[in-house]
Amino acid sequence: MKLKPIILPSTLSKKKQFRKKITFVIVFVFLFISIVITLKNYQTESEPINDIKTSYELPMDDFSVDDISDDSTNIEIDKSDTAEKENAVEKEEANDIKESGENQDDTVEKKPEIIPKQDNEDLHINDQFNHIVTQNDTLKTIFEHQGLDPEIAQKLLQDFPDLAHLKAGQQFYWVTNNDGDIEYMDWLVSYREEQVFQLVAQDKFKREVLVKKGIWKEKVLKGKVSGNLSSSLQKLGLSSRQVYQLVQGLKPQLSLKHLRNGDKIEVLANCEFIDDKLVTLGKVEALRLIRGKEVYYSILADNGHYYGENGAVINKSQFSRYPLRFRPRISSHFNLHRRHPITRRVRPHKGVDFGLKIGTLVIAPADGVVTRVAYQRNGAGKYIKIKHGSKYETVYMHLSRSLVKIGQKVKKGQHIAYSGNTGRSTGPHLHYEFHINGRAVNPMTVHLPGIASHSVMSNKERKAYLTKVKKVIAKFK
Ligand SMILES: [Zn+2]
Repeated sequence: MKLKPIILPSTLSKKKQFRKKITFVIVFVFLFISIVITLKNYQTESEPINDIKTSYELPMDDFSVDDISDDSTNIEIDKSDTAEKENAVEKEEANDIKESGENQDDTVEKKPEIIPKQDNEDLHINDQFNHIVTQNDTLKTIFEHQGLDPEIAQKLLQDFPDLAHLKAGQQFYWVTNNDGDIEYMDWLVSYREEQVFQLVAQDKFKREVLVKKGIWKEKVLKGKVSGNLSSSLQKLGLSSRQVYQLVQGLKPQLSLKHLRNGDKIEVLANCEFIDDKLVTLGKVEALRLIRGKEVYYSILADNGHYYGENGAVINKSQFSRYPLRFRPRISSHFNLHRRHPITRRVRPHKGVDFGLKIGTLVIAPADGVVTRVAYQRNGAGKYIKIKHGSKYETVYMHLSRSLVKIGQKVKKGQHIAYSGNTGRSTGPHLHYEFHINGRAVNPMTVHLPGIASHSVMSNKERKAYLTKVKKVIAKFK
């Protein structure tokens, strides 16, 4: 008996059942389409905001089709800078949305709204802004220029004094609320640092400092000599100290004066990169200098000094102790407190006297430039001054004859004069002075400029160095 009511519905006319099914399917399909449409709309509206500049939704009314379809406008966009190009992309996107989403009614035609041309650095998209800091910008001037409340700038500066030190090239992004007040501001301080300011209460901002960590890699930086070596290396990012150290390794190998514009320089260094951008130049391992077919290296040894490829110190000193080809007899020593034998007054002897036969050849003790050739009857007699670099100067007195002229460049060992007995002199001799930064020092005890003795490697150090040299040279190739 109970079976009956169950059987009955199943035996209802098949037509009825079919109609029911169809209705169900139609309802289902309708629901499915509605869901798909809703989802699609949702996606376009809530694109994730990971790039403020490009992802912000555009108001439809701001742009018209005419703006984009007009050819002349397009040409102008092509010629303009990237900020405007981005703007153009935004316009096109807006246009796409419009075409697919809305009826293109005639209001579009009637309203050819022209977007005012904007400053290169000011890209205005609804309530999103950015600004690239230029040289004289302050937070206040930026705010004023952008129509923001300068008092907010003042408030921000009070709470975050860092903001007083803006640098050209930094960027600001911000978002305003309906009242035009800043809700969020992003300061791109450097490749490494970003500061985010968020409005948390009336005129009250919370700051978050984001510091990116770089990746350290060994890298060969390449450049060319332009002007002098030091400035060319500094252009690659080396500090003056790094340049100084590197050059010490080169000096014994070649005269830097002989470098020409266009000579290649390559620096192997530990570099820190952030987003593939070099941000820090760390330890410099080596320099390779290429002049035509000649290749020179300056490579860091474990003792902290730089050397040439073979680790040898070639030119131990730039100076000879004596400006003569032999070791002479000293007839009077350097003495700043010497008293005159008769008057007893202090008459310093600012040089050393070498007892020499008249006509003895005097040689340049180092490379230099002749700065003076003169005669002083009651004093120095015939004398010469030679400048060696910016720091050193040597003086030769009582000469019988000079072999050089003012302004002439001389090489170490070059003949410069014959000794004599001119001026106030009690007998044939050469009076020789050595000046450092304009002060006379004892030529016989002065530490002669050149390679410091501590930089000469021990055998063990040199062996380790030569092993390293092979590895370093391989890195340049
Ligand atoms: Zn003297």
